[in-house]
Amino acid sequence: MLGAWCELRGDWVFLREALNLKHHFSATSVCHLCGALSGEGPMSFRNFDTAGPLLESLVTQWASNDPPSPLGQLPGFSIWRCMFDLMHTLDLGLAQRAVPSALQGLLGLPARRRGSEATAFPGRSAAERCKEATRAYHAWAKRTMVPSSARVKAITPRWFDGRWPTISQQHAKAAALRAMLPWVAELAETRQGESRAALLRARCLRGLVCMDKVYSRAPRFLSKLAEKEAMQHGVRALRAMAELEQLMPDGPWRLVPKAHALLHIVRDSAMGNPRVAHCYQDEDFVGRIKRAYVSCHGKTAPLRAIQRYCLAAGVSFTAREELLTGRRSKRAPPLTGGPIMWARRAGSVAAAASGSADLAAAADSSGRGTKRGRGRPRVHTVKRRVGRPRTRPEL
Ligand SMILES: [Zn+2]
Repeated sequence: MLGAWCELRGDWVFLREALNLKHHFSATSVCHLCGALSGEGPMSFRNFDTAGPLLESLVTQWASNDPPSPLGQLPGFSIWRCMFDLMHTLDLGLAQRAVPSALQGLLGLPARRRGSEATAFPGRSAAERCKEATRAYHAWAKRTMVPSSARVKAITPRWFDGRWPTISQQHAKAAALRAMLPWVAELAETRQGESRAALLRARCLRGLVCMDKVYSRAPRFLSKLAEKEAMQHGVRALRAMAELEQLMPDGPWRLVPKAHALLHIVRDSAMGNPRVAHCYQDEDFVGRIKRAYVSCHGKTAPLRAIQRYCLAAGVSFTAREELLTGRRSKRAPPLTGGPIMWARRAGSVAAAASGSADLAAAADSSGRGTKRGRGRPRVHTVKRRVGRPRTRPEL
C-alpha cells in the first residue's frame, strides 16, 4: 500500500494518541508545536504575544514517546501538518467555558467569595432567572433564524455549579455553542460600561465572534487582510480572557491550554482556512453510522450498517449530481425522509432492477428489531432456506 502525508486534524486527545506525543495538554510542556509550558513566566501558555519567546521556540523535530507512531514514517510527514481543530478548540473548548462564565455574571449569580452584579434577567432564584434567560435566548434564536436543531434547549443552574462553570456535551453540542456565542456577546455588549470585568468580558466574546465570522465568510485560503483581521480578533479575545483570570482568581474565568491551541490556529491560518477543514463532518459521520447501525438487526449489523451507508451515500451523490446538472431521472425516488429512508428506497429499486438479494436485504433490514419497523410492509422480500429445514424434535 502506498500513501503520502497530507494533514492530521482532530481533538487534542486524538492527536496525542495517534502520534504518541511527548508534549501535550497534561504534560509540563503543553504544546507539540512550540516550547509553551504549563506554569507562569514568558514561556507560559498564558502568554499571547504574537512575537516573542514562544515564537522563537517553534519546534523543528517531532518529540514522541517510545515507540514512535508509524504515522511518522509516511512520506512527507511533517509535525507542522498535525494541526489543532477549530471545532474542538473553540466550539467544544473555549466556548464551553466562556459562555457560562459570562452568563454567570449576566444572570447575577454570585461568584465564589464575591458579590453578584445586577442581573440582566428578573427572578428571585437562579432557576427563575435561567428560565427568563432561556426565553430571551429562544426569542433571539427565532429572530436570527438559528435552526431549532442548533439551539440549546434550556439554560440550567447546573451550568454554574462549581468554581469553573462549564457546559457539558449532554447540554449543548458544538453547533449549539457556536450559535449561542453571538447572543451572549450581544448581551455582554449592553453591560460593558459597568466595570472593568464587564468590559473585558464583552471584549473577549466579541473577539471570538468576530474571528469566527471572518473564517466563516472566507474561502479555503484566506487573503492577507482576512488572515490579519482574524488574528487580531482572536488575540484580543485571548488577552481579555487572560486578564479576566488574573482579575478574578476565584472564578469563573479560567484559561486552559486550548487557549494556546487557538493562538496556533490564528497564527498559522495561512496554511488554510480552519473553518473549511474543521471536524464537523467527521463528527456527523459517527452519528450517521450510529443511526444506521442501531436500526439493523444485531446479528448482521456490522455488514448491514456499511451496506446501508453505501446506499445512502450513493443516493446523496446522485441527488447532488442532479442538482448540479439540472437533470432529474423519472425513475429516481423523491428524496424525502432522510438517509435511512433513501437507503431503503434505493435498495429496493436497485434490487428490483438487478435481482440482488443482498441489496434488498440491506435495504429491508432497517426496520427489523426496532419499534419503528414493526407492522410495516416489506418492500422486497427474499426467502431463502439454508441447510436442513427446522422440524420439531420427536418425543
Ligand atoms: Zn504551541
